[in-house]
Amino acid sequence: MKIAPLPHIKAPLLTLGASAFVVAAYNHSFWKTFVSATGGAQLGNAPVYAGAFVALVLLFNAILTLLNFRFVIKPVLTVLFIAAAAASYFMNEYGVVIDATMVQNVVETDPKEAHELLSWKLLQTITLLGIVPSLIVWRLPLRFPPVRRDLLVKAGTVIVSLLAVTGLLLLLFKTLAPAVREHRELRLLLTPTNMFQAAHGYLKEQWAVPVVVAPLGTDARRGARWGAAAASGRRTVTIVVVGETARAMNFSLNGYARPTNPLLAQQKDLINFRNVSSCGTATAVSVPCLFSAFGRDDYTADKAASQEGLLDVLKRAGLDVVWRDNNSGCKGACDRVQYEDLSRPVPGDPLCNGEECYDERLLRDLPQRIHDAKNDLVIVLHQKGSHGPAYWKRYPAGFGKFGPVCRTNELEQCSRESIVAAYDNSILYTDYFLSKTIDLLRAAAADDGVDTAMLYFSDHGESLGEKNMYLHGAPYILSPAEQRTVPMMMWLSDSFSQRFKIDDRCMAARSTQEFSHDNIFHTVLGMLDINTAVYNPRLDIVHPCTSGNI
Ligand SMILES: [Zn+2]
Repeated sequence: MKIAPLPHIKAPLLTLGASAFVVAAYNHSFWKTFVSATGGAQLGNAPVYAGAFVALVLLFNAILTLLNFRFVIKPVLTVLFIAAAAASYFMNEYGVVIDATMVQNVVETDPKEAHELLSWKLLQTITLLGIVPSLIVWRLPLRFPPVRRDLLVKAGTVIVSLLAVTGLLLLLFKTLAPAVREHRELRLLLTPTNMFQAAHGYLKEQWAVPVVVAPLGTDARRGARWGAAAASGRRTVTIVVVGETARAMNFSLNGYARPTNPLLAQQKDLINFRNVSSCGTATAVSVPCLFSAFGRDDYTADKAASQEGLLDVLKRAGLDVVWRDNNSGCKGACDRVQYEDLSRPVPGDPLCNGEECYDERLLRDLPQRIHDAKNDLVIVLHQKGSHGPAYWKRYPAGFGKFGPVCRTNELEQCSRESIVAAYDNSILYTDYFLSKTIDLLRAAAADDGVDTAMLYFSDHGESLGEKNMYLHGAPYILSPAEQRTVPMMMWLSDSFSQRFKIDDRCMAARSTQEFSHDNIFHTVLGMLDINTAVYNPRLDIVHPCTSGNI
């Protein structure tokens, strides 16, 4: 039997058609999760589904366009179709996700195991969704324009596609951002990008050299300002509070119209820095960055992972260091110090519900711990703070002062006002938490004769609908000020400032100057008068305000 030849088609149409086919045919698990993540199948969501579909098709088309050359595109599509058919079969049939471990299983599997996975249904799927579309592609006679025009068309296609994708994402941001954040598995379900990510992750693991952590500040010693008090056994306790997703502009201390800081406003001797920017726009960047000796310009995750940080230097100077966490860990910043996870709910604890605990739990037993400590102590408290999108879950009912409040992760179902109200309540709770921390330190100074201090800063800010953006994590250079401008405060007990000869009025005068996370490493060393070659006095906020330097 002779099969009639198919008509010629223009090459760009092939990639567009193939992209639409890929998004539609291999992504059953992805769409199922996507629909439930955006509030379930309903007609009102149709524009979101259509927009996401078109954005994905355009994105894949931009990538395939770069490979759309004679003798290249057909083999590429064949491999893609067959691999994607197999991947989508295993995702649908076994509910597996395609990640680095999965690739490892495939690579290291023995023939007997592989045999057990083979089934008629797998063969059917690969035939129907892999081989048949490949055969159709091979039978298509393609027409490519002349070379120069071809390259122009390709460049134009890629640029226009990516612009359209960006536009669609911005338009759908309010729905997409919480869905993608709360359902990280979506990333692993989207075929074929999951396969490339998984292969990349697997190869990276195979070639990774074990991280050797270089020591830092091996020369760290306590300086002269520790003075006679140290010899007489007078101890210091410094609490460093690492905030979460708190943005400076929603603090009434920084001029916000709502009274979100009623307690901190009453705290005597509190120095509030109004103009501080973060190292990153996400916890995983900011936290390792600000505890490392690298400034934002020099920081990379690899560099920070292969060198000790601030807490190691403090330990070298002979201080005890404890990290207490109510968040998702310290991202390597506390690897070699004592770590206490207080985020797991304990039944019966009034500061916890079934899922999580409020930040006040970080203060559990602290007065006793401070009273009993034998050595100088630095305690890091890592808050859950204002982590979104479920802001309303971050504070106990008594702090629901602003309302009405958005009570769903699906931000598109809420008005902007109700999202901001929930966020502001979480700031109000942080106000209480910080104020209580200061009260506790003030009491320890009075009752136990300990010199106490607190430094608070947030890891990054948050978008709450400005420029139609929500949450955080935008690439730094494109990120809005809302995500980069963080609160920072310092409180020193009288005995602490006397001992370390820090002038309060000088510090108050510095509070309007511009600072960043780059200052934290050196400021903590400076306020505790730790001498080491890695300390840079120019980045120490306290340094110009210590006696002799004013
Ligand atoms: Zn964070």
